Amino acid sequence: MAWETVIGLEVHVQLSTRTKMFCACRTTFGDPPNTNVCPTCLGLPGALPVPNAEAVRLAARGAIALGCTVHATSVFARKNYFYPDLPKGYQISQFDQPLATGGRVAFDSPDRGRIEVGVTRLHVEEDAGKLVHDRFPGKTAVDLNRAGTPLAEIVSEPDIRSPAEARAYLVTLRQILVYAGVSDCSMEQGSLRVDANLSIRRPGDPKLGTKTEVKNLNSFANVERALEAERERQVALLDRGDRVAQVTLLFNAGSGQVRPLRSKEESHDYRYFPDPDLPPLVLAPEWIAAERAALPELPEARRARLEIAYGLPAYDARVLTSEVALAEYYESVVGEGVDPKTAANWVMGDVMTTYNETGAFPVEADRLASLVTLVREGVVSHQAAKRVYAELARRPRDEPKAVAERLGLVQVRDQGEIGGWVDEVLAAHTAEVARYKGGELKLMGFFVGQVMKRSKGKADPKGVQPVLQERLSP
Ligand SMILES: [Zn+2]
Repeated sequence: MAWETVIGLEVHVQLSTRTKMFCACRTTFGDPPNTNVCPTCLGLPGALPVPNAEAVRLAARGAIALGCTVHATSVFARKNYFYPDLPKGYQISQFDQPLATGGRVAFDSPDRGRIEVGVTRLHVEEDAGKLVHDRFPGKTAVDLNRAGTPLAEIVSEPDIRSPAEARAYLVTLRQILVYAGVSDCSMEQGSLRVDANLSIRRPGDPKLGTKTEVKNLNSFANVERALEAERERQVALLDRGDRVAQVTLLFNAGSGQVRPLRSKEESHDYRYFPDPDLPPLVLAPEWIAAERAALPELPEARRARLEIAYGLPAYDARVLTSEVALAEYYESVVGEGVDPKTAANWVMGDVMTTYNETGAFPVEADRLASLVTLVREGVVSHQAAKRVYAELARRPRDEPKAVAERLGLVQVRDQGEIGGWVDEVLAAHTAEVARYKGGELKLMGFFVGQVMKRSKGKADPKGVQPVLQERLSP
């Protein structure tokens, strides 16, 4: 009998601020251990937290981008637990009065078409430090540079129905947050972290099954793999009549397996209570309205606009808006006067390959535009233009025309020169010439091809056929 999978995701993103959530320490990634610390983030007695206005603004912006209601009053609460990476013995978070609630993420599910997944809440909190296990043999060290870094936690409703759908949700969520400028969402640097919970039930059963939580997911692909492994594990348990225990699991990317970490602590174990050092966070309705008005264009809107404004196919618009930098670059190429579809083909081809390799656009929009013009005017062939592009990417100051000339890629349109190649080809293929003259006119393509080959691709194909026709006419 079939099982239905129910998945909910908790995503932590690091807000793109220069300083920490409650002190002025820097948030730079990769600094020497314990250099960005102060009495506040070390939890020394008497040090008082001061909320970072920019962090609140970015969190509110993220909430608005996800269609949440941003509340005029929210409350910072202490989440108490003991762990060596948490110097205060509690984490400042938000509990029963979060910053925002009730949003949604719409995306194309690989299984169910267009769907919406509810966003239960978005709240702000501070990050913990990091335990370092490989620095001193046999000892564990602690680095508190990350302690107090501002985070937004985004909790989804259990609306996701498959591991592949979970991945698609994450891709869309990340796009929205990057577009809105809330976070760089880099999983490599830990600025986006995912905890996933999964349960299974019989289709149509209104009651949710016992859920487990999977942690340690360091890529979207691994979220999908881990959830597949966990779904399989639960199905096997229930199929043989066992029960699913409520546990936290760690995913091992090497083996593709999940293993239990500890039995799930209940939320009341955290003994949440409002932080007495921090007054309620009060946001003026006008401030919230101004943030809403200042929201940049989001991926969905940009996709629709590219389709309509430039007449692009849906596929192209989706690829071009997959990253905000790509969309910006594309629009600046079109702004240089390049035909929108031609620009789309270039950006989705060679430009995107370079961008994926280097994270940059070494051929600026205006240089790409002049290269496209050379193709349109027949100065270089499309094939040759790709070689010119590769050279331009290596040489920041070179102009397309000069590069094409230097590489000998400018197409020859000189009748005399083309005539020379044509004569050589006709002399070398007397049998075909006879057949052509006997009425086999489709051999024209063969002759053009031979001339192109003999000219090493330099002959302008448009100039070749008239010369051939003239030489072959009776
Ligand atoms: Zn600090």
